[in-house]
Amino acid sequence: MTETAAPRLRIGDVTVTKVVEAVVHPEAESLLPGSSNDYVRASREWLAPHFIDATDRLVISIHSFLIEADGRRFVVDTGVGWDLPDGFKHLATPGEKYLRDLDSAGFAPNSVDFVICTHLHVDHVGWNTRQQGEEWVPTFPNARYVLADDAVSAWRRSGGSGAHSHGNDRTVEPLLAAGVVDRITPDHVLTPSVRLVSTPGHTPGHISIEISSGDQRGLITGDASHHPVQWSQPHWASKADLDPEESTRTRRRLLDELVDTDTLILGTHYGGPVAGRLVTTPAGVRFVTAD
Ligand SMILES: [Zn+2]
Repeated sequence: MTETAAPRLRIGDVTVTKVVEAVVHPEAESLLPGSSNDYVRASREWLAPHFIDATDRLVISIHSFLIEADGRRFVVDTGVGWDLPDGFKHLATPGEKYLRDLDSAGFAPNSVDFVICTHLHVDHVGWNTRQQGEEWVPTFPNARYVLADDAVSAWRRSGGSGAHSHGNDRTVEPLLAAGVVDRITPDHVLTPSVRLVSTPGHTPGHISIEISSGDQRGLITGDASHHPVQWSQPHWASKADLDPEESTRTRRRLLDELVDTDTLILGTHYGGPVAGRLVTTPAGVRFVTAD
């Protein structure tokens, strides 16, 4: 079997690589409850082949973005991990393939300076830790883990029962106990090219990552957007959005800011290449791949 190299692109002097852990294929109406399968089918021209499959189901990728910027190395979101709670086990990739793929992309765990979690849902924190004997230890031993203060507080308040945050006792609490977490508030500048911005609605304290270098810009969405079709229908919230009205306001704000600009959109659950741009056409807004 031939291994395909992980897709990679540059934003000025910054390099971003996408390492995919898993891909799932839900129907539009199941992931985005207010949506229409018929609309998605009629949008094949711009959604296929990367964003819908041959049967018009959505392509939803679970991946990490690896960033090299300002001499530092960042992992954004850490997938579902290896020991999932019941109900999520179908998402797991057996074994440690994900870590081998990071290694092949040049990101050995001990070389990573920062791990950023856009939020604390199960498909974004999985490889934060791994099991060593009875203990859960940081997978990235030399990294600071960057989490939104509001996200950590909400997890703590939930008493371990936060929707879609199952497993945080293994993927988040051990990091807090080890003292390796930086609890930030947006707008937080990590390095000159990497800034964390507030994109609320999906979860309390949800953050996106803004990359800027020279005259080039990019935005890693996190779950402010799950699928490119939402740029054409921003009111189609995800069933996992805890506050769908606020997530819709966030998508509309991003759309206003980013449409018909050169800013690259890096979708945290988008299939296909690393990034795309938002372009107005006579038929509406389209997401056009850039690499
Ligand atoms: Zn997600």
